[in-house]
Amino acid sequence: MKFSPQEYSYPDLSMQPFIDANEIWNILKNTASSKAAIEEVIAKSLSKQRLNLVEVAILINATDASSIQAIKEGAKTLKKNIYGNRIVLFAPLYIGNKCQNNCSYCGFRTSNKEAVRKTLDDQEIINEIEALEENGQKRLVLVFGEHKEYTPEFIANTVKLGYSVKKGNGEIRRVNINAAPMDIEGFKIVKEAGIGTFQIFQETYHPAAYAAYHLGGKKADFENRLTSLDRAQEAGIDDIGIGVLFGLYDWRYEVMALVRHTNHLEACYNVGPHTISFPRIKEASGFKAIPKYLVSDENFTKLIAILRLAVPYTGMILTAREPAELRDEIIQYGVSQIDGGTKIELGGYSKTLNSEQNLNKGQFKVNDERSLNEIVNELLDKEMIPSFCTACYRLGRTGEHFMEFSVPGFIKKCCTPNATLTLAEYLIDYADETTAEKGWKLIQKTVDETENKKLKKSLKERIERVKAGERDLI
Ligand code: SAM
Ligand code: SF4
Repeated sequence: MKFSPQEYSYPDLSMQPFIDANEIWNILKNTASSKAAIEEVIAKSLSKQRLNLVEVAILINATDASSIQAIKEGAKTLKKNIYGNRIVLFAPLYIGNKCQNNCSYCGFRTSNKEAVRKTLDDQEIINEIEALEENGQKRLVLVFGEHKEYTPEFIANTVKLGYSVKKGNGEIRRVNINAAPMDIEGFKIVKEAGIGTFQIFQETYHPAAYAAYHLGGKKADFENRLTSLDRAQEAGIDDIGIGVLFGLYDWRYEVMALVRHTNHLEACYNVGPHTISFPRIKEASGFKAIPKYLVSDENFTKLIAILRLAVPYTGMILTAREPAELRDEIIQYGVSQIDGGTKIELGGYSKTLNSEQNLNKGQFKVNDERSLNEIVNELLDKEMIPSFCTACYRLGRTGEHFMEFSVPGFIKKCCTPNATLTLAEYLIDYADETTAEKGWKLIQKTVDETENKKLKKSLKERIERVKAGERDLI
């Protein structure tokens, strides 16, 4: 299944710089926003077409309360239409915090002499994975600093460990990576290990701002980072994740640049990013942010709604950097994945390393400390299906969000039933009594609301098979 690029057709990647700061600022400054224009852009997005940069600027430049409300409502409707009521859950697993870079905002930076450095060995990784499995997790993102020890072979080995550890009914079914850029050969090695998504965040797409924050090491090379996901594509990794660290530079510019990067990937490889992440800068050991670039909750909500409308088929990840109430509020405007029960200090899940949350051990401060069970419970209160589904990946369907977006009825036929089955597994294997009670009610409601008789029958049968002990029915 291929995209038809709507703009920016680049026959030769090497000839085209795809981020031009002046171009982005010119569009932002020269695009007027009116109620009529905003309505037209929202309608285009609701017809599931990706927006171009001028259209994104029209939304960004909307400042009156009723227009912002219309953008949020549009994003809410789009999310419901495309993703239904599922939220995919995952956990980050920090493998090592050694780092040769000097990103001034990060507790792992090489100049932070206070940081306690540690790389988990195989047994420690196994302990962590067992603890995560005992909690009910099925999807992981492995996180690494950038260090000569963290070679592609080392990273590939951690991925293989991730898939091999099985505790009770537990198993990790998808291992994603958040690590430093590699060369094409390196990307091939980690792809071979069976990774899901490779995430690399640009942090800021503004070259001068980038230079101001990245003070040393390989990551100081803006171009190398910007083109890294092109190399991943060349190596055959077509599930890639992009992101911005909001709070480093003007959020309006960064939203435009994320869409620009998406356009570029679509134009060159016929597939856009699998996910977009939008971490907001958090307190980290020895770091003081520039106040004028910090993104308020209001603008953060607005930018997430704009991104949802701008790239309807791209997964959007909201992490536990944000506090629980804000996450609960923002989810409805377009987020498709959240982490739950998150621990970012090394060894934090198994507690075998005697670790407390401490800014010198963790990378930054986590603000949503709810357990996975609490998050599942609260999603159920909102009639959202907490999903651990990995079916697309396991059936070799990469670019799954595109399937959801483009194949008529795909969500009803595949995503909702698969999410429901993974919820049933969770309720039987891991949930407490209250959560289980709520969960089974929602499952029954989902079955009742399944209109297609054949699908309803097959869903009921598969739920019975899960109850009888079968797992991973796809
Ligand atoms: N070391 C690799 C890299 O820099 O790409 C990958 C892992 S890094 C630990 C993951 C992400 O954490 C970074 O890309 C950055 O966006 C985010 N991050 C770093 N410092 C942060 C902070 N103080 N607050 C919030 N997020 C932060
Ligand atoms: Fe190292 Fe990544 Fe932190 Fe930069 S953001 S200091 S590369 S771990």
